[in-house]
Amino acid sequence: MANSNASKSAVYSAHIAFIDLEAQQARIRPRIDAAIKRVLDHGQYIMGPEITAFESDLRAFCGARHAITCANGTEALQMVLMAQGVGPGDAVICPAFTFTATPEAIAVLGATTIFADVRADTFNLDPACLKDALDAATKLGLKPRGIMAVDLFGLPADYDAIVAFANDHDLFVIADAAQGFGAETKGRKVGTLGTATCTSFFPAKPLGCYGDGGAIFTEDDALAETLRSIRVHGKGTDKYDNVRIGLNARLDTLQAAILIEKLAIFADEIAARQVVAQRYAEALAGAVAVPHIPNDHVSVYAQYTIRLPAGQRDSIAKALTAQGIPTAIYYPKALNHQTAYRSYPLAAGGVPVAERLPGEVLSLPMHPYLVASDQNRVIDALLTAVRMT
Ligand SMILES: *Cc1c(COP(=O)(O)O)cnc(C)c1O
Repeated sequence: MANSNASKSAVYSAHIAFIDLEAQQARIRPRIDAAIKRVLDHGQYIMGPEITAFESDLRAFCGARHAITCANGTEALQMVLMAQGVGPGDAVICPAFTFTATPEAIAVLGATTIFADVRADTFNLDPACLKDALDAATKLGLKPRGIMAVDLFGLPADYDAIVAFANDHDLFVIADAAQGFGAETKGRKVGTLGTATCTSFFPAKPLGCYGDGGAIFTEDDALAETLRSIRVHGKGTDKYDNVRIGLNARLDTLQAAILIEKLAIFADEIAARQVVAQRYAEALAGAVAVPHIPNDHVSVYAQYTIRLPAGQRDSIAKALTAQGIPTAIYYPKALNHQTAYRSYPLAAGGVPVAERLPGEVLSLPMHPYLVASDQNRVIDALLTAVRMT
């Protein structure tokens, strides 16, 4: 009796993590401990030597000319908008299907977000909707300033088309790569694809720290200088010389020390994510809509998000929960349906895809340490639930 209970719990209690930060920590714990100890020993908690070292590692990793670390991904977006002088009367186009931080960075500066639709197959901003978004802004008497594209679930947005449109209409392009750092388009890494690229080191992002953190990448020397000033209270020669309105938006030295160790294994983790994604794609294609990765693109799979028929998604998710398999819904609402953003304008033609996706999406366990035996449990449970629904 005791024995059979024990074996039963061995079968059913094996925990499958949605994102496994413990496995990652176990791999590098001694190096993290040593890195933290070095900071405690030198005591330069603000803008210490690890900040400079990490920024240099980031540049080397993604090939960007400048890497400016900051407090979090939301402030990274806000800092770039501040550097562009965005404010009331300005319009910035962004997708209606993304995390709230994207439009929040625009709205908090008093500018207007214009929500544009996304593509169902990539979940990313649909370049075909940009003209409609631009027209909506002009009709309202707003000055269109830029586009904030999002690398949703780790896949770079269609920057070729977005940057071409932006150049034709004198707009800047901010890449919200909070989920996309480490990804690639045509051999170019995220970090070099827009006017500025912003990322987040929130713990659950593909490259995460043990708290909040973020970074901005750009090729533009003048923009980089302005961002470094905004990061520290609009400093001129120092923080007691204030040449513009800025923020306190520095990354902690401790987080930089941790991130140096995590970045050292990031390429290896991205490769492991490809293996996991490939296993999902091979097992699930045909039964559910798996993510579409366009040619010459590499996703870092911040989420592995499938689409299910709207009427069946919730019961399938419930069946997986009953089997001990965690899932998540990113995102449950289009942003134009969120209370805070209801009054913001939509591109002419609306955002029908962004409004449909919240009923269809389901994100599955995805991380570099997902072993085949656990993943097979996810796959089997999902295929069974799809067949029975
Ligand atoms: C996480 C996220 C952000 C914000 O990053 P924080 O570091 O949490 O402020 C912005 N945009 C997108 C798309 C995100 O997923």
